[in-house]
Amino acid sequence: MTVKNTKSCINCGSKSVIKKGKQRGIIRYFCTECKQSFSSKRRLNKLPEIIFKKYILRRQVFKHLAQDYNRSIPWIRDKIFAYEPPEQTYNPRPVVIVCDATFYGKKKG
Ligand SMILES: [Zn+2]
Repeated sequence: MTVKNTKSCINCGSKSVIKKGKQRGIIRYFCTECKQSFSSKRRLNKLPEIIFKKYILRRQVFKHLAQDYNRSIPWIRDKIFAYEPPEQTYNPRPVVIVCDATFYGKKKG
């Protein structure tokens, strides 16, 4: 038994998804359940956002982030400053931040 395709439909969650081809480097999928086609958005570069959030929320310093991503400190700094958070997220209401300490706790250098 081989797991060929674990992609599930973004519309109905069905696993009856077949690959339809590629379009500008993005793989197109077609769901045989709901007859909807959709594309994989894996290519979307979320890295600046992730780094930015780690920097802000976890108070990680450039040095640690650079080590995490095996990059130089200027590269990290570049990514953080390149990322502009959506303006509507600046709500005055307090935000509860749930940090899973286990995620980083496991990793020991
Ligand atoms: Zn579907």
